[in-house]
Amino acid sequence: MTSVATVTGGRDDSASELGHEAYELMRRLFPLCRSLTGSGVRATFDILQEYIQLSRSEVPSGTRACDWRVPDEWNVREAYIVGPDGTRVVDFQRSNLHVVSYSEPVRAVLPLEELRPHLHTLPDRPDVVPYRTSYYERTWGFCLSHRQLLELEPGDYEVVIDATLAPGHLTYAESKLDGRRQEEILISTYVCHPSLANDNLSGIVVATMLAKQLAERPRRHSYRFVFAPGTIGPLTWLERNRTRLELIRHGLTVACIGDDGPLTYKRSRRGDAEVDRAAEVALRDSGTPYRVLEFEPWGGDERQFCSPGFDLPLGAMMRTAHAAYPGNHTSADGLDRIHPRSLTVSIETCLAILEILDTNLTCINLAPDGEPQLGRRGLYRSAGGAVATPAEERAMLWVLNQSDGSRTLLDIAYRSGLPYATIARAAERLRCAGLLEERPRSEEHARSGESVP
Ligand code: ZN
Repeated sequence: MTSVATVTGGRDDSASELGHEAYELMRRLFPLCRSLTGSGVRATFDILQEYIQLSRSEVPSGTRACDWRVPDEWNVREAYIVGPDGTRVVDFQRSNLHVVSYSEPVRAVLPLEELRPHLHTLPDRPDVVPYRTSYYERTWGFCLSHRQLLELEPGDYEVVIDATLAPGHLTYAESKLDGRRQEEILISTYVCHPSLANDNLSGIVVATMLAKQLAERPRRHSYRFVFAPGTIGPLTWLERNRTRLELIRHGLTVACIGDDGPLTYKRSRRGDAEVDRAAEVALRDSGTPYRVLEFEPWGGDERQFCSPGFDLPLGAMMRTAHAAYPGNHTSADGLDRIHPRSLTVSIETCLAILEILDTNLTCINLAPDGEPQLGRRGLYRSAGGAVATPAEERAMLWVLNQSDGSRTLLDIAYRSGLPYATIARAAERLRCAGLLEERPRSEEHARSGESVP
């Protein structure tokens, strides 16, 4: 029989280094001009490949993706506005937020009043530059602070957007980690935002660090990380993976997860999937502030994975969701919003969720008639009469009591209020003492060439 469960629990010494490594990766990725498609996405994957193994897919423009089609590819080389006095008042080189993503190319000289409809600002947040996109409507534009707009003198302005918007490809990348089983845990994040930190470089770096950590660990499940542009990316991926979706046993989307807001888990559409309970227990056990939200059909890429036609058991991990931060999709979402410590706790908590999903088991008590005599087996304190029962002993009593073949270790951790790691350790001790055995999961498939334990 295989080991009942192996849970490391606790924190290792490299924990805080994880957050710093993630933050350094963010600093490298921050300047790149990502969009739905194009060289910024590919350059992002070039850097991620220094950390994890990635395989890329290039999907031609026009390819059907559920009810959508892959758009043309957009690449921008230069974009600027020169004022009447000859100075560059707005320049893409200073910040890629300055050009509306998916702007068509333009080269013109316009009086301010004609340029004005192409200039986007936020009058009620006059110091920040907004982030704007126009993926599915052909236009061009620039974004700047409202304060700067008010300072523009009347006169003729030279506008240049040196871009191509033409049939090309949508690029997504996957990192696949084989486990003992073919069944997969899917982790997805979106890669289409330019120089914005929490939304969603934080998701990219947390997913990357998870893949890097998991590559070093023993794995029961196989893992698949998907890095793809928002909405059209998961739609494309789902369309191309329809025949193998039944292998996905659990999943998480990871986004907006580097700020100092409380860790937040949004349930799957199913609401009672194993990942929903695993996330709740891992958050409870983490000792950090957290929230659990019910499913709703808006937000991030969970909208696609949890659409009724797919209904995958996948929840969303975040901190401050994009709609909940007033500076979202503006230059206020900079690297100064990100805390390496927050990244560390985000990564650790996601790893704890994944570890629960990877080690969770249903067991059977082999001595169910009454309480087995634990003291005789060296599992119980020898001196009687103590009022408080230590957690390790309570955990063994919970595991024995609940292990009738219908409840998992996760169910027992949830019901007992004891940490999952404590429950899993108790199960392992009971297994070694011959009091417990794993109930095999009939629905699982070993990888070809490997025996089913
Ligand atoms: Zn966003």
